[in-house]
Amino acid sequence: MRLNRQHELFRDSVRAVLERLFLPGLDAWESAGRMPTHELCRALGEEGLLGLTLPEGDGGLGLDLGYSYVWAQELGRLPAGSPAMSLSVQTDIVLPLLAEAGGTAVRTEFLRPAVRGELVATLAATEPGGGSDLAALRTTAVRTAEGIRLNGGKAYLTHGSVADFAVVLCHLVEADGGTGPTASTGLDSLTLLLVPTGLPGVRQDRHTGKLGHRSCDHGTLTFTDVLVPEENLLGKPGAGYELLTRVFTRERAFLAAVSTARTEAALRQVTGHARGHTVLGKPLVDHQAIAFRLAELDAELALVEEYTGAVFRLLDEGAPALRQASIAKLRAGRLERETADLRLQLHGAAGYMDGSAAERAYRDARASGLAGGADEALLHLIAGHLRTDL
Ligand SMILES: Cc1cc2nc3c(=O)[nH]c(=O)nc-3n(C[C@H](O)[C@H](O)[C@H](O)COP(=O)(O)OP(=O)(O)OC[C@H]3O[C@@H](n4cnc5c(N)ncnc54)[C@H](O)[C@@H]3O)c2cc1C
Repeated sequence: MRLNRQHELFRDSVRAVLERLFLPGLDAWESAGRMPTHELCRALGEEGLLGLTLPEGDGGLGLDLGYSYVWAQELGRLPAGSPAMSLSVQTDIVLPLLAEAGGTAVRTEFLRPAVRGELVATLAATEPGGGSDLAALRTTAVRTAEGIRLNGGKAYLTHGSVADFAVVLCHLVEADGGTGPTASTGLDSLTLLLVPTGLPGVRQDRHTGKLGHRSCDHGTLTFTDVLVPEENLLGKPGAGYELLTRVFTRERAFLAAVSTARTEAALRQVTGHARGHTVLGKPLVDHQAIAFRLAELDAELALVEEYTGAVFRLLDEGAPALRQASIAKLRAGRLERETADLRLQLHGAAGYMDGSAAERAYRDARASGLAGGADEALLHLIAGHLRTDL
């Protein structure tokens, strides 16, 4: 992405806002296992940060994707992964989806309030039985005379237990006169439905205890005969896969930018440590084995950062860049994990202890191989392009 002076001025102001809102409480929230998501969203909404790239008519600022890139990088520089994990769902997954596919009622009742930070959103795709194989999802909605009747369950959702509404990926099928829904699975019936979590039949539960991202909410949603108004359909019935593909593209680019920023911060920190920590009479960085490891990571970071910026540029130009965004996320996530591992290693046992920055970064980095698409799901997609494009 070619960033200009306006982007850099935005970087300064967004950094100041994020440091003001997150730094005083972040350590305590990580220990307590929760952050005040609604309060933070409201504060960020007041700053206009939840709708940077959304149309002005929807309450956004109508800016280019360079601003989303800077937003992702600055979130990534915070000393825990939770803020980026939490806010990416709101700003770069669900709200762009509503802006693209929501009808008038959805825009008025959900999109605009969410841009103001009054409503918290979640994307509900993954199910307890699996998330990579979308066609195999089991949550089903049936069109009836009273509305769309939804049944099923979702898990591992960021904001799952605190969200005011969910965008739910389900198979939409037609009723067949009382004997049950017409059989329909596969990608063609996948549909996105906006479900307010206050509707009768919706149950929200929280995942307690997880490796990383401790203060970011993760939860489950269970739907039992939930009646959803027809106007809450996002796009056409059966358009779910196509819409989600576009959203995943943006999400993966965003997560790559977050991972890149986290790698950069980690590398800077561990390099400083390697200059100051002495073993066998000389600083770690003067041991060639260590210097070369750091140099390898630094070289890889330069490439991944450049590539991720290029993906944002493609997206800003409107190109379909799912393959490129998947490559960026795969490599940036792996690099984040590799760097976090070396960082912990070079801090020795001190880095292994609870409360060390290296330990938190190590735990948080692990999610980069799962959230937003497991590494193997990304490789499957990239391999699919190899089969057809060569
Ligand atoms: C921190 C975090 C936040 C998340 N937030 C959300 C969210 O907000 N909304 C949401 O819907 N989901 C969310 N998820 C779930 C995430 O999207 C899934 O974990 C991911 O899609 C993988 O699905 P799964 O965990 O069900 O694993 P499965 O689909 O059961 O796959 C298990 C494993 O099989 C392997 N695998 C998968 N596909 C292939 C393949 N094609 N070839 C070979 N091996 C393969 C991978 O190693 C994978 O990890 C989140 C997950 C985490 C960890």
